[in-house]
Amino acid sequence: MKEIINKLKNYGEVKENVPLKKHTTYRVGGVASAFVYPKDIDSLKKVLKLLKENNIKHMILGNGSNVLFSDDDYKGIIIKLDKLNNYEIKGTRLIAGAGANMISLALDTVKHNLKGLEFICGVPGLVGGCVYMNAGCYGSDISNVLTEVKALTPDLEVITLKNKDLEFGYRTSFFKTHKDYIILEATFKLTKGKREELEALVKERKEKRLASQPLEYPSAGSVFRNPPENFSGKLIEDLGLKGLKKGEAEISTKHANFIVNKNNACASDIKYLIDYVKEEVKKNYDIDLICEQELINF
Ligand SMILES: Cc1cc2nc3c(=O)[nH]c(=O)nc-3n(C[C@H](O)[C@H](O)[C@H](O)COP(=O)(O)OP(=O)(O)OC[C@H]3O[C@@H](n4cnc5c(N)ncnc54)[C@H](O)[C@@H]3O)c2cc1C
Repeated sequence: MKEIINKLKNYGEVKENVPLKKHTTYRVGGVASAFVYPKDIDSLKKVLKLLKENNIKHMILGNGSNVLFSDDDYKGIIIKLDKLNNYEIKGTRLIAGAGANMISLALDTVKHNLKGLEFICGVPGLVGGCVYMNAGCYGSDISNVLTEVKALTPDLEVITLKNKDLEFGYRTSFFKTHKDYIILEATFKLTKGKREELEALVKERKEKRLASQPLEYPSAGSVFRNPPENFSGKLIEDLGLKGLKKGEAEISTKHANFIVNKNNACASDIKYLIDYVKEEVKKNYDIDLICEQELINF
């Protein structure tokens, strides 16, 4: 591994023995052997070639806001696309690198009197992670405004995939079922809007989120997808599970579909609560809740 890590340094910044709790919004997880930040797409290709040829475990991490890493060390390489963070607004189109911060982008489109991405102003992901998850809220999601994605195939070719090819669904996309494809860039088609109106909407929704979500504690947003015609939060709340604790992990007292890290929780405590909720909901309502968050290295 040491030799591989040294070679990676040719393609971008490398940090060794990185605590995953510093790179995930749950603030939990073991230590990753190394993080690499490829300088550009060409360097990313070289990184992937090296890792694949040497059978080294690896994955792309966005802002870590929808993942739960286990407490075990991640014996592999985490690839961060932070350097692919350029974006440009051309008329009503936004073209953004996978490493760009979605909230900053959305706020900038609003400043440019563009409508369509304001819904995402409370979602703390990067462009790649938001496309992968088809992130959404307030009745809209990424697939409503995305026209195409530039991606890297498993053979390290750069291709363009149109919206219709991306198998978008509720919190899912082509990339969720094809994990060896990498999102490099996304193009969004927005419409003309009024900055003042859009800013007022963003402000109103921010206040709503602050009032209804436990944003004062580390979490990874909603734990479970909503089952058809139902709400996971309501099912969990009706079972009286709000406030249930395991170690320092807690089913939020503010929003039952959030698990929060109250103070140095372990990933295993969060995982315990996820499994417990699933079992209770199955037992009481015969509903199989689906975890929206990605469980890694368990
Ligand atoms: C307080 C809070 C509120 C939230 N509210 C919402 C909400 O309202 N709606 C919503 O949908 N989500 C919400 N989320 C969840 C989360 O922010 C989104 O799912 C977001 O899209 C995740 O982006 P990320 O960059 O953090 O991805 P990560 O968590 O880093 O990664 C998620 C997955 O995407 C993969 N991935 C990331 N980048 C790429 C890439 N370039 N190519 C291929 N695969 C990639 C990763 O490998 C991983 O499997 C919330 C989270 C928090 C903490």
